[in-house]
Amino acid sequence: MSADPRHPHVRGMGMASARSRARLVERLRALGIDDERVLDAINRVPRHEFVDEAMTSRAYDDTALPIGYGQTISQPYIVGEMTRLLIGEGVPEQVLEIGTGSGYQAAVLAEIVPTVYSVERVEPLYEQARRRFARLGYRNIRVRLAREDVLGLPDYGPFEAILVTAGAESLPTGLLEQLAEGGRMIVPVGASGDQRLIVVRRENDTFVRETLDAVSFVPLIHESQDVR
Ligand code: SAH
Repeated sequence: MSADPRHPHVRGMGMASARSRARLVERLRALGIDDERVLDAINRVPRHEFVDEAMTSRAYDDTALPIGYGQTISQPYIVGEMTRLLIGEGVPEQVLEIGTGSGYQAAVLAEIVPTVYSVERVEPLYEQARRRFARLGYRNIRVRLAREDVLGLPDYGPFEAILVTAGAESLPTGLLEQLAEGGRMIVPVGASGDQRLIVVRRENDTFVRETLDAVSFVPLIHESQDVR
């Protein structure tokens, strides 16, 4: 890995991690992820750098893993699918992620999208992700600590695409105002055990909603749950 100019400080694993990553990519391809931009991005991001040292040997399994504070790094298949849905045919200039967690999903997006904003509410996870992005050379990720009073980053938008990587009980309508005309938001919605991925597109100032696969995310925590 030290030969990779993009990630000069990646720890250990070297060729073994490159082989594990290639196997993971083949698995995701077999599961139906056919967007080469997404597969290339997953092939480039060292997922073992986004989990605790003790989990390194499982970093390239297609499963979610604990990252502390009751949170998880998402399953690679879900990361691939959400990334594919988010970028669509044309690549957005700037996207917003709610729920930085380990930073893995943001890093996958940053391999494709020019600027990624990501917000996290758990301060130690935010600090850790910030250090990780710096160490791995991800200069196009702007990570912010979430404000308690408002969801997302209203001062930085509007965004062409918004990805929520925590499950909302109902559609977080406050985030829709941060979506640019023609933009899209992907968000897991529903009670625990009954979540579905929802895509909302902003078209001519109306919001078009589509319900997709069943998913399972840790809860989105917010004081006003934006029910309207
Ligand atoms: N995308 C992450 C996985 C996130 S797990 C990854 O690739 O590792 C969901 C994350 O959302 C958790 O870290 C949780 O703390 C965070 N979260 C929950 N509610 C939030 C909110 N209102 N604003 C920002 N982050 C939130």
